[in-house]
Amino acid sequence: MISLSHVSKTFGAGHHGSGLTVVDDVSLHIEQGSIHGIIGASGAGKSTLLRMMNVLERPDQGQVYMGDRELTRMKEGELREARRRIGMIFQHFNLLSNRTVHGNVAVPLELAGVSREERNQRVQEYLQFVGLSDKAAQYPAQLSGGQKQRVAIARALANKPQVLLCDEPTSALDPKTTGGVLELLEHVNREMGITIVIVTHEVSVVERLCQSVSFMDSGQILRTVKLAEGALPPDMLAWYEEQEAGD
Ligand code: ATP
Ligand code: MG
Repeated sequence: MISLSHVSKTFGAGHHGSGLTVVDDVSLHIEQGSIHGIIGASGAGKSTLLRMMNVLERPDQGQVYMGDRELTRMKEGELREARRRIGMIFQHFNLLSNRTVHGNVAVPLELAGVSREERNQRVQEYLQFVGLSDKAAQYPAQLSGGQKQRVAIARALANKPQVLLCDEPTSALDPKTTGGVLELLEHVNREMGITIVIVTHEVSVVERLCQSVSFMDSGQILRTVKLAEGALPPDMLAWYEEQEAGD
């Protein structure tokens, strides 16, 4: 579904210094219909790698593919179109505070030029899917963290994406609310067939949700494994716990 081929990103490379290489020659294939985790310590380059998957961050080197289409060779207009098939959610939800729940979910549909009638219908459909039909007229400030993330998920789904990129979607939530959001993401994957990539620093999130996971350290993927019965390989678990302790 999404493939990265030898992508690298260096920040701050100028005339004088060599800069900081944040993603270093990463290749990764994410299977269609799967839920793939990316786990690593703070500063490992996880968010940068995720942002390269929809070319919000343009790699200095390497290629990004969605299916057989190369995103890294598209011009802005074509890329904008392709990005509509890639939804994204964030740790701090990134909702527009001056718009209602309905208004937030409608944003990507407005940008895509969807008619008002179809917009209203789709907003209602997705708010129902995330269980927030009764909150349509509320503002983000009136919602709990879990409800905000549900609105963000409805917004990310509104353009019927094939992939949902999630950057620490539960890091700002308490454990109980986290469970509900993870369950919703699982529904998104199962019922809509949407491929999910989820960045996290929580082992429990990976074990609860993912079929495969990549361990990231200093801009590189150390290893990618399939999760047998939801458990991480003991050696990688031990390695990761050591990373966390050193943070
Ligand atoms: P965290 O778990 O804290 O979110 P992360 O694994 O997501 O960390 P990134 O956000 O990808 O890490 O950042 C990796 C490194 O790249 C960090 O040292 C960060 O300061 C640096 N970095 C990220 N974006 C930029 C930028 N736009 N300009 C300069 N440096 C950046
Ligand atoms: Mg990050």
